[in-house]
Amino acid sequence: MPLTGTNHNRAREKSMPGASLLKKPTSEDLDLLSEISQMLTLIDREQLLERVIELTAKAFGAERASLMLNPDVPEDWEQALIKYRRGDGGIERVEQSQSVRFARRVIRDGLAGWVVRERAGVVITDTREDSRWVTFDDSTSSARSVLCVPFQTASAVIGVLTLLHSDPGHFDTSDLQTLTIIANQTTVALHNATLFSRMRYKERQLEAILSAMPDSLIVLDQSGRVLRANHIAAAWLDTTVEALAELSIDDLSRRESLLELVRDVRRNPLQAGQSWSFETHSENRGRDYLLNISVWHSSVDGSGGYVVVIRDITTLRDLNRFKDEMLHIASHDLRSPLALITGYCSLIEFEIPEESPVKEYLGAIEKATHRMQGLLDDLLRVEKIRTSPMEMVEPVHFADLVTSALNQMRPQFDARHQQIEAHVDVESALTIHVNSSMIREAIENYLENANKYTPDGGRISVYSTVEGNRINFVVEDSGIGIPPTALPRVFEAFYRVPRPESDEVVAGRGLGLHLVKAVIERHKGEVWLESEPGAGSRFGFWLPVN
Ligand code: ADP
Repeated sequence: MPLTGTNHNRAREKSMPGASLLKKPTSEDLDLLSEISQMLTLIDREQLLERVIELTAKAFGAERASLMLNPDVPEDWEQALIKYRRGDGGIERVEQSQSVRFARRVIRDGLAGWVVRERAGVVITDTREDSRWVTFDDSTSSARSVLCVPFQTASAVIGVLTLLHSDPGHFDTSDLQTLTIIANQTTVALHNATLFSRMRYKERQLEAILSAMPDSLIVLDQSGRVLRANHIAAAWLDTTVEALAELSIDDLSRRESLLELVRDVRRNPLQAGQSWSFETHSENRGRDYLLNISVWHSSVDGSGGYVVVIRDITTLRDLNRFKDEMLHIASHDLRSPLALITGYCSLIEFEIPEESPVKEYLGAIEKATHRMQGLLDDLLRVEKIRTSPMEMVEPVHFADLVTSALNQMRPQFDARHQQIEAHVDVESALTIHVNSSMIREAIENYLENANKYTPDGGRISVYSTVEGNRINFVVEDSGIGIPPTALPRVFEAFYRVPRPESDEVVAGRGLGLHLVKAVIERHKGEVWLESEPGAGSRFGFWLPVN
């Protein structure tokens, strides 16, 4: 690197790490500081920096000024270089592109690099007599005096401001003191401006997300005042986003009776993590909606409130109704023709001689109709669980349900030499209000599957615990497991995991887990599953205690 730095034996100027004013400030100093501190309230980063450099250059009578910023990575120094020089019309900005490579060199080898490394400002009264001043070969600089200060936070130097003049002795140590104070203040302001611009960026991102979502969204504070809403919500309530922000949930529920649900939810004490979901029909709109209300809570200042999301599910519901109708028609209307076929098959069987090959054909027809009958029965069961009103809800000891299902299944486990471990930690007196035969069926289903899909001699553990206002039930087995691709589908009706690798075909129609899901969801609980092929599976569900 060809450097032409001069190194005379003159003592170096003392650097000024602190920001204390050692001399009595002049009235110009005070004017400048007051002008600077007013400017430091600027929240636009670029504007702030431009003003600082322009003002300091003018105030200190510099002919040139440059500011290098180090936002994140050291290699990026050159990216934020602003340069000024005194021209005919006062201080003017020099185009950034001219100086990009130069900035990197100055930071590495020049005076700015010294300031960064030492984390201290410096005044050079004559560049020809100070070794820290480096003149680069291709530089046209005629600077004789220099003021150079760092913008530093507790952990790093984030910028370097340099003021230059062609006369020696133009700057002195008192200038350095004042400029150091300005640099320190600017660092704070820069930090604030950066925080503000990050906040603005996040705000814009949030705006974009909110306006891109197809659902109505309303955010309320704890007192029920609207904090924020998206355009869809405003249009849905026949108003504007701005007008919504003036309203409370009481005003809104007067406009739209559906939102009375939110008013009802707010009667509960606010508890972080809580959420409610309602499927509801709006008479006046003639449409179906899914209303989700969740609690938001800020740990910063303890504030909180509710996020309300309203989704129009009319099309989905229509499709569902259509599917239910089709299921209903299929399961009911096919029963009679099937019964007829089975009946006539039995009659024909009597009419034909024992040795006739037709007997075999009849056997095949009977088998097929039997299978269809089974399928129709399953369909009817699913339909019943999903659509019939919840009957026979009674107080039940959950622990008793689990224990009795386990006892009933014991012979099946013993037949396969499977080792059963039961951890029923539910207080035996604890009652839940459920349809006990449905829940019993769900428990048995998990146990039956563990029995079916775990090889002889395997291990099956059953856990039943209470957590908060939930009862958790888990069946863990050391069985064949389920491949990750099949996991999202096993609770679907009639889905069976394809197992080309296994010789053993386990009997089943792929409806058991779907029934479990339907039963548990009807009881406002949730099913879940974890599995690893070859290692085993964990099937679980939780039910609300109340
Ligand atoms: P079925 O057992 O009648 O096929 P299910 O609805 O009960 O129907 O289960 C769906 C599919 O999920 C099964 O075909 C099986 O492949 C898989 N499965 C269910 N339980 C287990 C289990 N404990 N271990 C491994 N696979 C399971």
